Amino acid sequence: MLVAKVVTSSDKTKLREVLKDVKIKILYFENNIKVISGRYIQMSEFKMCCACKNEQPICNFGKLKTSKDGYRYDCKNCRKNYRIKNKELIKQRQHEYYLNNKDILTEKNKLYREKNIDKINVQRKEYRNRPDIKEYTKQKIKNIFQLEKKKYVNVEKLI
Ligand SMILES: [Zn+2]
Repeated sequence: MLVAKVVTSSDKTKLREVLKDVKIKILYFENNIKVISGRYIQMSEFKMCCACKNEQPICNFGKLKTSKDGYRYDCKNCRKNYRIKNKELIKQRQHEYYLNNKDILTEKNKLYREKNIDKINVQRKEYRNRPDIKEYTKQKIKNIFQLEKKKYVNVEKLI
């Protein structure tokens, strides 16, 4: 992982020097540095994770509007581990939430679908055209045909 503490503008040249070989472009520089390598990395701010107690770049923390600095207290890695460990519990809670708010959620989803129908259609088309999904669908159709064929053969035998 790329880690650098950069606070002053004189560090900019230094950073450029460091990043020369990593093939990363500096997009924007002020108090924060945003570096692009497919995604943004803000490297000037560091923060301690409340779970693993490691000091890490702020880009390793998810956003949280209600917190003091606008970021979560636990790092993305710890959150990922939590999700893996508590998969069933999270699923159960989500289901309970759904049951308790079924009407509101249904209405919300309906409104969203109506508003974003074009976007949804594009997403669906992209999903259908994904190579793995294409293969899956092909296999599924094949299985259905084979099942039908079996039924037909059975009927023929009966007659
Ligand atoms: Zn952590």
